[in-house]
Amino acid sequence: MVDWYSRADVDGHVVRISEPHVNELLSANFWWLRGTDRDIVIDAGLGVVALREAIPGLFARDPMVVLTHAHLDHVGAAAEFGDRAAHPAGEAVPELMIDVLPDPGYDPAAYRVEPMTLHRLLDDGDRVDLGGRVLTVLHLPGHTPGSIALLEERTGTLYSGDIIYEGALIDNLPNSDVAAYRRSMQFLVDLDVSVVHPGHGDSFDRTRLRQLAETYLRRTA
Ligand SMILES: [Zn+2]
Repeated sequence: MVDWYSRADVDGHVVRISEPHVNELLSANFWWLRGTDRDIVIDAGLGVVALREAIPGLFARDPMVVLTHAHLDHVGAAAEFGDRAAHPAGEAVPELMIDVLPDPGYDPAAYRVEPMTLHRLLDDGDRVDLGGRVLTVLHLPGHTPGSIALLEERTGTLYSGDIIYEGALIDNLPNSDVAAYRRSMQFLVDLDVSVVHPGHGDSFDRTRLRQLAETYLRRTA
């Protein structure tokens, strides 16, 4: 059995989980955060391999899952959790692209994401309180209509999903919206944060956030 998920501790209370064997276009990060009352998982990977079995212990306190948007590489394992939240705008998902089978008997054609309901709908300004840790929802459409980011104001940490990351940003999907994306980037140019934990690639600081947002605004001007 391949070690499907890679896990990196950012600190004792924040863990980055990624899927190194997924095609680089679809290899997403997701983030586990500990609160005093409740833990949270921001996004849930492709779901090629059962997440809770693969990383025993981490999810023992039955975390809430908040989905930054409805693309396959972010929602795959969300059905394993009993409390799911996202922005109500949903969308279609692309096909599976992986470069290694989790085990020799795995049938990629059998992969599917279980239909799932949301238990909470999130919109701009909503707060998710985990105890000792509060995340504010920022609705930043463009990549998709329902894209959200989560901001922890106390630490200046932004969980940005696919709204912004190092690398080519995707604004040409059927329900992408460049004008909306530009408004979202204008918001991010002025956002005061210390670190951005994105849906793809490595984390970066405020200076880089501003550069990436300004680059997008120039490119689409
Ligand atoms: Zn996406």
